[in-house]
Amino acid sequence: MSEEIKTIKLKLFGGLTSVNCYLIKTDDGFIPIDTGNSGKRHELEKELNNVGCESGNLNLIVVTHGDSDHTGNCAYLQDKYGAKIAMHQGDSGMVQKGDMLWNRKGNILSKIINPFMGLGKSDRFVPDFYVEDGYDLSEYGLNARIIHLPGHSLGSIGILTKMGICFVETCLPTPRSQPLIPSWTIKWLPIPALKN
Ligand SMILES: [Zn+2]
Repeated sequence: MSEEIKTIKLKLFGGLTSVNCYLIKTDDGFIPIDTGNSGKRHELEKELNNVGCESGNLNLIVVTHGDSDHTGNCAYLQDKYGAKIAMHQGDSGMVQKGDMLWNRKGNILSKIINPFMGLGKSDRFVPDFYVEDGYDLSEYGLNARIIHLPGHSLGSIGILTKMGICFVETCLPTPRSQPLIPSWTIKWLPIPALKN
């Protein structure tokens, strides 16, 4: 299996920040990791089409977690390109109900901004299948496994390729000199039980 990776950076909040999507080209087609926010749909689609990613070869979308800035174009790509969507079940209610606090406790501030951060009705979706820790993506042409990384949300995952690249979103703020879990994340979530 051979793989090429393209990073697609989509701006958020008028350019104050941005979110990354990663497009992996495999021997069988293309696999985007995350899809960005719906406001940048045109930009995302242009980037996909520029490298030949289109209906028929967009095989699978892997979602790192349910937040709308990472899942805003999933429903669109699922419908238009026939792509399957894989994510962890821990965030399923976020994308089906459009509620970013579905699996989070939330403080007052987060409850106030939640309606503005959710997925619009037309952008909500039902994932085609769920992936758990250790799930092997090789049947989709990607030599990689899923790592379950609950923290930012209950269903946050990383995608670790055999080449040693790990795709992770929002678990660690960057750029920083050392890994750091955002303080608000700790307030939002119960501490998950550690597996043996
Ligand atoms: Zn997030």
